[in-house]
Amino acid sequence: MKIITIRGDMCNVHIIISNIVVIVDAGASISEISKVVNKDSVKVIFLTHSHYDHFAYLNEYLKEFQNAKVYMSQQAYDKLDNIESTVANIFGVRELKKIDKSRVKEIKENESIANLEDKNYFVRLQGHTDCSMGLVAEDNLFCGDAIFENGFGRYDLPTGSFEETTHTLNKIRNLHNIRMCYAGHGKNFYIKEWDQN
Ligand SMILES: [Zn+2]
Repeated sequence: MKIITIRGDMCNVHIIISNIVVIVDAGASISEISKVVNKDSVKVIFLTHSHYDHFAYLNEYLKEFQNAKVYMSQQAYDKLDNIESTVANIFGVRELKKIDKSRVKEIKENESIANLEDKNYFVRLQGHTDCSMGLVAEDNLFCGDAIFENGFGRYDLPTGSFEETTHTLNKIRNLHNIRMCYAGHGKNFYIKEWDQN
C-alpha cells in the first residue's frame, strides 16, 4: 500500500494505491489527481465529512472515475445539498445538489472497504461535525478534520460539538497500532508526536 498526499486548493487529498485506488476527500482539482492514478483503478472516494472544502470537486471525480463509489456516513449524505450545514455559503456557493444515490455507499463504524486487500475499517469521529468519519488502513489513520498536527478541529460550526470532540480525542488516543495520521489540512504526522494542546 502506497499513500500519496496532494495538497489541494480546498483540502488535502490522500490517495491510497493498493490492489484498488481509494481517494480520501475531493478537495483537489481533477488534473492533480489524474497525474497520479490510473482512472479505472479508482474504486472508492471516501468523504471524511460533508464540509464543502472536502467535496468541492466530487462531481468531477465521479465523471472521471466511472468505476468509483462514494463512501460516506448517512449523516454526511443527508446534508450534502444543505448550504449552511456544509458551510458552502462560507465559500460563496449558493446552490448544491445531492449526488446520484446509486453512486453512494453509506458506511457505518467498523465496516470495511471490502475490496481493499489491506486491513481497514471506518471509525466515527464526531465533534467537528456529526457526520465525521475516519478510515484506519493498516497503521494509518485518515482523520479528516477531527485532529491536526497541532490540535483538533473546530467544533463551533453547524452540528459541531465540544462534548463529542472530547469523546473523539479519547477514542483516537485509544486506537491501537496507529502510526501515521493524514488530516484534511496541514501536514501528515506521527500519532506519537501529535500535539493535542
Ligand atoms: Zn471540516
